[in-house]
Amino acid sequence: MHVCTTADLGPSFIAWAGAVHGTITALVTERAQHDDAAALQAIELLRRAGLDCGTCTSCPLGLNRQVN
Ligand SMILES: [Zn+2]
Repeated sequence: MHVCTTADLGPSFIAWAGAVHGTITALVTERAQHDDAAALQAIELLRRAGLDCGTCTSCPLGLNRQVN
């Protein structure tokens, strides 16, 4: 299980994942919600961190899009 949320940490920020109070937490740029390129970068970055956010239905990356 992990928690996903959006955060605006500046123009170069795509995504981040780490343990916060023992729960794996992913931060994803708000741009990913309307920018496919940013979303794909975030998905790939989080995949390398061990999170399958592209298919997650409860996170900002999985909620509103289908990634083929
Ligand atoms: Zn997720």
